[in-house]
Amino acid sequence: MSFPNRNPDDVTGWHAHIYYDPATTKDDASRLRANIEALFGGRVVVGRWHDEHVGPHLASMYQVAFQAPLFAEFVQWMAVNREGLDVLVHPLTDNAYNDHMIFGFWMGGKQPLDEARLKRIAVHAGRG
Ligand code: ZN
Repeated sequence: MSFPNRNPDDVTGWHAHIYYDPATTKDDASRLRANIEALFGGRVVVGRWHDEHVGPHLASMYQVAFQAPLFAEFVQWMAVNREGLDVLVHPLTDNAYNDHMIFGFWMGGKQPLDEARLKRIAVHAGRG
């Protein structure tokens, strides 16, 4: 398979998905969330808590959406302030499968994603 190269201008924004275990690391996730809101509030969009698994995510998480101009500052801060949690940073293009499985990168360990679901989404959108 060849790598699905894209024009960087096709990236419409970024997500950071912050994974936690409701039984053991929710306090860490809560501290990280408070720090994000204190430092980046108004510049990022912090999503709801998802203890229940949602979309292609097979672990509890919340999402932080941000725009490209904030990438360097936010991702650099996350790299050294993630409270030991696993974080997926991925761009947003028109292909959810590529965004999550190919273009994204992980801080900490990799969490499982529902690859088949992402493939279906990409196919349904006609963006193979
Ligand atoms: Zn996402």
